[in-house]
Amino acid sequence: MKRIILHCDLNNFYASVECVKNPQLKGKCVAVCGSEDDRHGIVLAKSQPAKMLGVKTGDTILEARRKCGNLIVVRPDFDTYYDYSEKVKSIYSRYTDLIESFGMDECWLDISGNENLSGDGLAIAEEIRNSVREETGLTISVGVSFNKVFAKLGSDMKKPDATTVISKENYKDKVWCLNANEMIFVGRRTFKTLQKYGIITIGDIARTQPDFLKKILGKNGFDLWAYANGLDFSPVSHIDSKPIPQSISRGITCMESLLSVYEAERVVAELSVKVSKNLRREHLLATGVQLAIKEDNLTVQQYSDNLEFPTHNAKEIYEVSQKLLFQKHIWKRNIRALTVRTYNLVKEENYQQLHIDFDIDTHEKVCVVDNTLNGIRKKLGNDKIFNGCRLYGTKMPTGKSEHSSLPPASF
Ligand SMILES: [Mg+2]
Repeated sequence: MKRIILHCDLNNFYASVECVKNPQLKGKCVAVCGSEDDRHGIVLAKSQPAKMLGVKTGDTILEARRKCGNLIVVRPDFDTYYDYSEKVKSIYSRYTDLIESFGMDECWLDISGNENLSGDGLAIAEEIRNSVREETGLTISVGVSFNKVFAKLGSDMKKPDATTVISKENYKDKVWCLNANEMIFVGRRTFKTLQKYGIITIGDIARTQPDFLKKILGKNGFDLWAYANGLDFSPVSHIDSKPIPQSISRGITCMESLLSVYEAERVVAELSVKVSKNLRREHLLATGVQLAIKEDNLTVQQYSDNLEFPTHNAKEIYEVSQKLLFQKHIWKRNIRALTVRTYNLVKEENYQQLHIDFDIDTHEKVCVVDNTLNGIRKKLGNDKIFNGCRLYGTKMPTGKSEHSSLPPASF
């Protein structure tokens, strides 16, 4: 059977959602950025008009404003982005169960065998594109091809709100002229190595002996040769078999530097709650925690440790982060930014009890409290219940520090 793979990419996703939420922003230069008051806040996404003026993801707010004087800066709202992402996926699911997410704004769809019912690949792509626009107000770019790698390249070719077909007949014309680093899995380091040997385009990769690529890049080299020649047979996963992310983290750059380990502890507590919430939403448990500390001079220190027990529990994540902060970190400078990252994630349903000697009673009690808190937050909103330590004026962006001598944090 002929394979028909679509790659659907939501255009300027975060910024587009903001414009749907607030129609007054439509057609204006909008950038979704970290904290505006923080000079280190960077652009996470930008609207099409801002993009046309040169605003790039990763620009500092200052840089972005320099390029675009009337830039409207909005703070990210990840919960709403997640909801829109799910809404769009439900449109995709009218056509197939084989839907594989790649980040929040991209999906591959395998619609092989479906094309006779609703037209060919291009016709289905156009139908999906129209439905997404009509039902959500968002636009997508779609690549239609016979494999995932080329479908992804296709969705990048025409933006926004467009469809590109890369077929067995036209791929040499359409794909081979592109720079090698446009292809998925060609990272900065790989591209540098390729360039050293005069391999610049995807066509150059395709025409190089696979053995040579293997010699300079390892196994990855052979795969790249295959992809460049249209020989990617990797399947699109089922919508329910979500790949497990490598890590889930939340970080924050504070409005003012944190002047003591106790102030830092409060921020760590808040971040642990947020990470826990995201783990729950993905039905994942973490087995390791990493704490990244950015000091005033912008150097970053990272510490990590394993959790006793795979968990998505905020208190347990917090306890390990706190231990890393107090016991591993040597305080030399004030702290500018903090990130709590959980890694080695396992699916909740796949988890088996690993450590019999763990204090299961305490774990279960803590889980009951955590579930209750989570239920309240879900029902009444995130700011209706919070950790006691917030009362003592952390330097989170929600409020300025008001207290100079702080009691120890309580969770
Ligand atoms: Mg996108």
